[in-house]
Amino acid sequence: MSRTLIWLRSDLRLADNPLFQFSTPPEALLCVYVLDEVWLTPMPGLEAPRIGPARLQFLWQSLIELRGELLKRGSDLLVRIDDPVEAVVALVDEHEIDEVRVRADAGWEERQATARMAERLDGAVSLSRHDSGTLFDEASLPMAIADLPGSFSAFRRKVERDWSVPGAVPAPVTLPSWPAGAPRGFPPLHKVCGRAAAWAPDRRGNFAFAGGEVPGWARVDHYLWENGDVARYKQTRNGLSGAYFSTRFSPWLAQGCLSARQVHDGVRAWEAEHGANDSSYWILFELLWRDYFHWAAWQEGASLFGRRELPAPDDAVRAWCEGHTGVPFVDAAMRELATTGWLSNRARQNAASYLIRDLGGDWRLGAAWFEHCLIDYDVASNWGNWRYLAGVGRSSQPRALDVHDQAERYDPEGAYAALWEASRPAPRPEVS
Ligand SMILES: Cc1cc2nc3c(=O)[nH]c(=O)nc-3n(C[C@H](O)[C@H](O)[C@H](O)COP(=O)(O)OP(=O)(O)OC[C@H]3O[C@@H](n4cnc5c(N)ncnc54)[C@H](O)[C@@H]3O)c2cc1C
Repeated sequence: MSRTLIWLRSDLRLADNPLFQFSTPPEALLCVYVLDEVWLTPMPGLEAPRIGPARLQFLWQSLIELRGELLKRGSDLLVRIDDPVEAVVALVDEHEIDEVRVRADAGWEERQATARMAERLDGAVSLSRHDSGTLFDEASLPMAIADLPGSFSAFRRKVERDWSVPGAVPAPVTLPSWPAGAPRGFPPLHKVCGRAAAWAPDRRGNFAFAGGEVPGWARVDHYLWENGDVARYKQTRNGLSGAYFSTRFSPWLAQGCLSARQVHDGVRAWEAEHGANDSSYWILFELLWRDYFHWAAWQEGASLFGRRELPAPDDAVRAWCEGHTGVPFVDAAMRELATTGWLSNRARQNAASYLIRDLGGDWRLGAAWFEHCLIDYDVASNWGNWRYLAGVGRSSQPRALDVHDQAERYDPEGAYAALWEASRPAPRPEVS
């Protein structure tokens, strides 16, 4: 009997997921997600786990949603908290699996884990890696990863010359049955982390993200079709507050509840009906940035994280994390980040630039703090954007911003800074 194990990571969806596409389906299928136990332990220096309560809650919601979709198709989901390689290898042995499928993740640790898995399986069980979630596959990039240009603009010019993004593939209608006797289900979130189970975003953020494919699609429909915000994106994208100034697709893209191709298809369908404009193009332009950082992470490997050991944060860096620098524009951003798990791109850039330029802090501490806080944390986008702003590696020009100028330009009335003043009461949310 042929048995396949799908090892899920940041690809928690059924539609447009190559792991669930079979030319000849196996007779039995085991779908597994293993939360790396290391992510729950405090990072040295910052005393915060790599996965904070906001993202952990979103992750659990995404897993619950995915399990529901799998059950509808005759399959199921097993979730464990463990060393992912050890847990998957044990399942392979116990349930006589003959194929393991996994996403070709760009993150160095994920790649190391995949390599360790290949060693442990030692050719006796086949291990297949699949590109997934990005606009382009490695094979359809107009250059080898090793030749990825040092600048985004050069990358964009090359991919736009022959822009052909494959269409998203629908979800399978049915799936092979669960192997007899194999475990299923997962621990309730309150047993994994009480803070994550109880976590709720500060209502000043005006938005509550819910994990999973269906809530992700609801946001896409809302943004593209119901509100038509896509028509104004280029003018609004530098906004700081509110539910509609940018797409807010990032958490679903980061956990893989949505793929970039699905968003691409949605934007193209909107353009077919309403006509393309600068704003619809600009959403695709941002998705290209995402692809660029993904492929850059492949190229950079372990050096994405910098080479030296992470220093302990000093008092100034701690104050930055807590939103007590004394600069209202920066403090507002850091408070919003810590209490909602999300931040606009403009505020991320300013918060990061202030740490690097004004405090002289180590950019990697900032990246690690963002990793803890962000619901949409994505290894390539987070560490890539931090490196880019710090002027490390592929881009040697630091992109320092003057946060006072930026506050005058983007928050001229000081409304954003005032909203996140520590004592201000929270208004009712616009969207939930
Ligand atoms: C210091 C710093 C850290 C960041 N960390 C992350 C991260 O961990 N995860 C993450 O998804 N994004 C990260 N970004 C990029 C960007 O800020 C967010 O993707 C964006 O703010 C998410 O909001 P949105 O979905 O409304 O984006 P929109 O403006 O609506 O853009 C649409 C999509 O394009 C992609 N995108 C947009 N800008 C970027 C960018 N600069 N780099 C990569 N992808 C982009 C995202 O997938 C986003 O959902 C970071 C940026 C900075 C400056």
